[in-house]
Amino acid sequence: MSQAACVKKTDILIEGATIISPGLIRGSDESIVVVDEGSIAIDDERIVYVGPSPAPLEFQNAAKRIDASGLIALPGFVNAHTHAAMTLLRGYADDMVLMEWLEEKIWPIEAHLDSEDVYWGAMLACVEMIRAGVTTFADQYFFMDDTAKAVRDSGIRACLSRGLIATSPNSAEALRENIELCQNWDGAANGRITTMLGPHAPYTCPPDFLEKVMEAAEEFGVGMHIHLSETSGEVEESRAKHAGMSPIELMDSIGLFRFQTLAAHCVHVSPGDIEILSAKGVGVAHNPGSNMKIASGIAPVPAMLKAGVKVGLGTDGASSNNNLDLLEEARLAAFLHKLANNDPTVIPAGQALSMATLGGAKAMGMDSDIGSLELGKKADIILLDVNKPHMYPKHDLTSHVIYSARSSDVTTVIINGKPVMEDGVLTDIDEEEVLRTAEERAKALVAKA
Ligand SMILES: [Zn+2]
Repeated sequence: MSQAACVKKTDILIEGATIISPGLIRGSDESIVVVDEGSIAIDDERIVYVGPSPAPLEFQNAAKRIDASGLIALPGFVNAHTHAAMTLLRGYADDMVLMEWLEEKIWPIEAHLDSEDVYWGAMLACVEMIRAGVTTFADQYFFMDDTAKAVRDSGIRACLSRGLIATSPNSAEALRENIELCQNWDGAANGRITTMLGPHAPYTCPPDFLEKVMEAAEEFGVGMHIHLSETSGEVEESRAKHAGMSPIELMDSIGLFRFQTLAAHCVHVSPGDIEILSAKGVGVAHNPGSNMKIASGIAPVPAMLKAGVKVGLGTDGASSNNNLDLLEEARLAAFLHKLANNDPTVIPAGQALSMATLGGAKAMGMDSDIGSLELGKKADIILLDVNKPHMYPKHDLTSHVIYSARSSDVTTVIINGKPVMEDGVLTDIDEEEVLRTAEERAKALVAKA
């Protein structure tokens, strides 16, 4: 072997970017660090150098160089709660009261969904999210094999769970499907797919059913993705049925939180609930867009953050948002909590950016691998064009990312070390086919309802 062959080639070298990330320096954790002229080297699927340009000589021998001068490099956004295939129902039913919306519109049409629909709906979601700089999402739905195939085919990263509703006649079959999802897909697509169990919520999954779910979690070593305390009615019902306990107290009492738990919403939570979430390390996916659109209420996010709760952001499904734009969600979170607290210092830009990236990764239990541009982490990196009128003048680029940038400013997306979008062009996906097929399937679905 020649001497030159011993020097391993770096796969990708990004040069000249303004790097903005939480956790960029070991120990800096969630505070944002900015490197004005930075480079990132990627070898295989991991970051092997992140810091000032030029990168050390050993990383200069790159197979691919990306000139990122005039661009911002960020960790990919983490959408910590969604139902990807619901893109097919985007705009189908809006401006309705939650239970009427579910019972009259959403559930009847979901009864007609088939596995092909879910594949194309999920593909549409993946295309939309990649374009918006989302590199990881947490999903709970059904026909999850097809969502997994869409994740595999699109190049995105996801943590998938099969939604479980104990009261539905096929609950045992659904739990079996969720277990098979974990067996067949956990670690698939070069590790881009991970899995969880998906008990929908305490009001649809009573404790005796959750016992079976916890047995499965124990056996297969996976966590839980659940909706908790989304509406005030749900909390009242829980207190009336379960000896005065809130949904969070109830879940704690049955031992659910001994498993890695990702809890969507947590809108109506008491100080006692927040203490439990913090003490038990429960991750919270805050969905400000969905909570506002359905008028569920305002989650006490500043209090949760103060108590050390791991809070990430989610879009929820596209029929209650109606897009999967996590950057928009970060801005909504900052604005909503400033207004709700009558305090403009609440959730400053850096904290919103942390929640959109590392916060989501922590809430999903994935922060050892993703959520920040740190040495050794998986290379999930997005580049944002700052040469737009709304990005001038460049007083503070962290502020610009949250308060001024648009997700359409994302030009390049790298996931697991592989470029999936370059200069606005998706590298492996026939986008036109995805849009056309999703439109056809959505129309056929509505005709069946
Ligand atoms: Zn949801």
